[in-house]
Amino acid sequence: MPNKNPHRPFTPDPEFTSLLPKNWGNSVNGLGETRVRRPDVVWWASDTEQVPFGAAQKWFYTKEVPGPELTQERIKRQEILARPLSEVAAKVQKRSPGEWTHSLQQFVRTGDCEQTGVARMQPEWAYKGADVPFTNVIMLAVQHNYEKLKSAPDQVCGTDVSHQYNRAANVAMKVANWLREQGWDAKPVTGPMVGDILLIPPALACGFGELGKHGSIINPKFGSAFRLAAVLTDAPFEQTTTQEYGIDDFCSRCRVCENACPPFAISQEKQLVRGAEKWYVDFDKCIPYFAETSGCAICIAVCPWSRPGVGPNLVKKIERRSKRKSAEQLLTSTDQR
Ligand code: SF4
Ligand code: SF4
Repeated sequence: MPNKNPHRPFTPDPEFTSLLPKNWGNSVNGLGETRVRRPDVVWWASDTEQVPFGAAQKWFYTKEVPGPELTQERIKRQEILARPLSEVAAKVQKRSPGEWTHSLQQFVRTGDCEQTGVARMQPEWAYKGADVPFTNVIMLAVQHNYEKLKSAPDQVCGTDVSHQYNRAANVAMKVANWLREQGWDAKPVTGPMVGDILLIPPALACGFGELGKHGSIINPKFGSAFRLAAVLTDAPFEQTTTQEYGIDDFCSRCRVCENACPPFAISQEKQLVRGAEKWYVDFDKCIPYFAETSGCAICIAVCPWSRPGVGPNLVKKIERRSKRKSAEQLLTSTDQR
């Protein structure tokens, strides 16, 4: 039986559910589909008139009464996104792929973001109908303020979510301008509104961590306490590599987020989604609670990896356990000879 949960029982607001389209999000997301395909926009559409969930998304906006800090963050967001991008310079700067990738570290040193990575663009990352004529995806991560995040689903957490999305948008604009001023076309992709591409798959591909049971990435240092932005470009960056930390296996034995999720949206088993077997959050169970709390975030806040300093210790523990297991297996196989 799940542990005692202060947010249960949860009954979705019938006003919200009446606005949902007939084919709820799980089928739009491709749950159970065996073929790899490009994703459809389900939520966070920039134009709510164009998507089946538009009416429900608009209800979500009206539900929340933003406090002064959240209002300020929203104003800031509009200002950041309204800034024009630099012209693409006529003179093209040449560097080796390794130098390009290394030079991204400057944005971490200046505190604009906490991690950078580069992945080769894959067609299945682009939303249906989006034209993405770029070869590389630069990924940028900004870390949450954990003290604020852990108040989820309170607005204190929502305000930090907005704040971090603003930092992410800001650094994406900066990186894009930096490239454009060196003669390389570049386009920022900023959340939470849907841009041209999904952000989680390229972040996994460029080594930001592993997919957690709660459907978000777990980074070995920041846990799930971070937000993403991207920059699309043809500048010849070296790809950053993926690494496995044993997080996937950890999730198969941990049930913290499952027990904490008010509408029971997190499943104990991986599921088939657009041709890939993976952890998947039941969108149709999650979205009413997400909408009624203006963003929820309980699952990423309760994940033990999100607590500052815990991730690196867990990685070491997992490493030690796996070395011990290998040594025991070696001993057993030697004894059997
Ligand atoms: S709470 Fe546990 S199961 Fe859920 S994502 Fe975090 S580590 Fe994985
Ligand atoms: S965001 Fe969704 S999946 Fe995560 S705890 Fe909230 S309702 Fe559950």
